[in-house]
Amino acid sequence: MKARTRFAPSPTGYMHIGNLRTALYEYLIAKSGGGDFLLRIEDTDQKRYVEGATDIIYSTLKTVGMNWDEGPDVGGNYGPYVQSERKPIYAEYAHKLVELGGAHYCFCAPKEESEDDEAEENAVPAKFQDPCKRLSLEEARARIAAGEPFTVRQTINKKGKSRFHDEVYGDIEIDYDDLDEGVLLKTDGFPTYNFANVIDDHLMEITHVVRGNEYISSTPKYNLIYETFGWTPPVYVHVPQVMKDAQHKLSKRNGDASFQDLVAKGYLPEAILNYIALLGWNPGDDREIFSLSELEKAFSVERLNKSPAIFDIVKLTWMNGCYIRELSAENFHRLALPYYQKCLTRPLDLAALSKVLQPRIETLADIAAQTDFLEQLPDYDLALFENKKMKTDRDVAKNALKPVAALLPQVEPWSNENLFEQLKKLAADNGLKNGQVLYPVRIALSGRETTSGGATELAAILGREETLARINVALRRLGEQG
Ligand code: GLU
Repeated sequence: MKARTRFAPSPTGYMHIGNLRTALYEYLIAKSGGGDFLLRIEDTDQKRYVEGATDIIYSTLKTVGMNWDEGPDVGGNYGPYVQSERKPIYAEYAHKLVELGGAHYCFCAPKEESEDDEAEENAVPAKFQDPCKRLSLEEARARIAAGEPFTVRQTINKKGKSRFHDEVYGDIEIDYDDLDEGVLLKTDGFPTYNFANVIDDHLMEITHVVRGNEYISSTPKYNLIYETFGWTPPVYVHVPQVMKDAQHKLSKRNGDASFQDLVAKGYLPEAILNYIALLGWNPGDDREIFSLSELEKAFSVERLNKSPAIFDIVKLTWMNGCYIRELSAENFHRLALPYYQKCLTRPLDLAALSKVLQPRIETLADIAAQTDFLEQLPDYDLALFENKKMKTDRDVAKNALKPVAALLPQVEPWSNENLFEQLKKLAADNGLKNGQVLYPVRIALSGRETTSGGATELAAILGREETLARINVALRRLGEQG
């Protein structure tokens, strides 16, 4: 049987890394066996509605290449795929569940209901002893007919242990006494997550449910609903939380938890996706670099693990560097351009700049710090010209930069390669070592001890006029000194 999986995000306006990882595992379970991947929008909590939030979900999945086979925008045979459009379906099943004895009507004050709601949100079972459970069905129906607001609450009469299997956590036992009789259908007719997920997963014929381990404790409640209806529960795949460190979850507040935050910080979508695949899954060997289609081939549920997944930004940054180096020169340039536009206004040979940066940066955001001296020559310390290894000091620098300044107006073509040949020749003609010319030129052009790119690469980027101007600044300052 082919797998049918679903990604069921709540539209929060924010794609948490943990959610994207869930989506990825759902996608891989489906695609590794030629199955279907569905997108379902879980928007039953109207209080939390955020304008434009669904677009973020669509655009994130599209950016990383996880296309869905069924969903709100593409349709499918099991729609609607937006929960707020399924209200009549939930109502129908809620009343059915009452008839079957798996739920009851409840008339408790909204206060108790909202407290219960909060507990649902935190997915922590709070024991709620519902007095309405004792009402007869006739009595309850009469009160509903008289217009009294009601909710539908789950009825849990079972005693002993609930047992179920999870693909990651193994066999799990939870005491029925630990389960609360939570609201399934609210007074406004909207279902809670605890009800909607069961109804939809069944009706949409979902075979595998991947979700955070915070849902494990509620799973027996879902199983009771499946059982009462005579339905088969899906295969459960609960995954550990994504942690910032051993104690803290990745949180929205720090600005480090969302896909969008990472993209804004200069990480490539492909690298983020590759990295998060490994947050809780391993291929069984040392391999670390996987494209999405390679993941489809390599993935297996058995290799998901339950130890907490720590989000290691250093590792992601390293991986991002690998992806940057794998880009074609053209693609790198295209991705770097917006970053250049943000911090560079001077006319520069940007294609030459891209050539220098691509092998040397780890995130696109590094571009700013790697190029600030191109925009404006910093006020550097002349002591930088003194370098034992390069056998340079201020006098050597002056003696090298003078003929360089005389040569540069004639250099043709103005390219890194030609400049390099010409400066090497100049060094030989003046009885200097290559480094005694190239090192002072690099300091004069950058005002920095270390730069991405050597002297002639920087000259090619800066252009003839600015290169000469900077050499002359150095000569003037060195002259004033001596
Ligand atoms: N809407 C739920 C969430 O965003 C989905 C959980 C599930 O996949 O069942 O956490």
